[in-house]
Amino acid sequence: MKKQFAVIGLGRFGSSVCKELYKLGHEVLAIDMNDDRVNAITKHATHAVIANATDENALNSLGIRNFDNVVVAIGDNIQSSILCTLLLKEMGVSQVWVKAQNHYHHRVLEKIGADRIVHPEKDMGIRIAQHLVSEKIIDYIELSDEYSIVELIASAKVANRSIIDLNIRAIYGCTILAIKRKEDINITPSPNEIIELNDILIVIGHKNDLKRFEEDGL
Ligand code: ATP
Repeated sequence: MKKQFAVIGLGRFGSSVCKELYKLGHEVLAIDMNDDRVNAITKHATHAVIANATDENALNSLGIRNFDNVVVAIGDNIQSSILCTLLLKEMGVSQVWVKAQNHYHHRVLEKIGADRIVHPEKDMGIRIAQHLVSEKIIDYIELSDEYSIVELIASAKVANRSIIDLNIRAIYGCTILAIKRKEDINITPSPNEIIELNDILIVIGHKNDLKRFEEDGL
């Protein structure tokens, strides 16, 4: 289904979000107060406009209230990011996602009703570190402070054995959500599924349990 998005602030993060949404076939309104940034995005957005997103009249004239999803990717200027988020929530935008600069910025955004607060540099740093410390970890998604989803490469230790035989859930408290094999992905692996060498296992669990599984089970 085609959705309507607005992306405010076209730094590296905002412009990547904008380009990807547009590539996925959605309608995207790109907004920045810097004309060079706006000119650079025109081919990758449905509309691109120069506007100050802390100006209520400007936001109104862009019809921003009609967008279901707005991404606020204003970088260093925390005050503008907060004011823009506040205006968007007051105008009734249902999903406002905001890039936070730091913990205090995050706390303010939470208080004024931002629906989702992201820390791209921090999250990417964690994912890269996880990848660096283990050749077995392909990708890593933090669900909360305690729980994660990881993509792990199946080693010889688990190859040619079934999920039920490995008993990962009982021994490690982790669950295999899906198995990727070359181009195929099985999102409902049966307990009798036989794991092959170099399969990619998508596993959910407590971070400590995932670590145990990765270190001892694989
Ligand atoms: P990154 O490039 O890593 O995303 P960043 O988050 O620091 O870095 P910036 O390069 O600071 O992002 O980009 C933020 C963008 O937001 C800039 O292009 C800037 O012009 C724009 N911006 C800042 N304040 C406003 C505002 N009030 N209205 C519209 N655009 C704004």
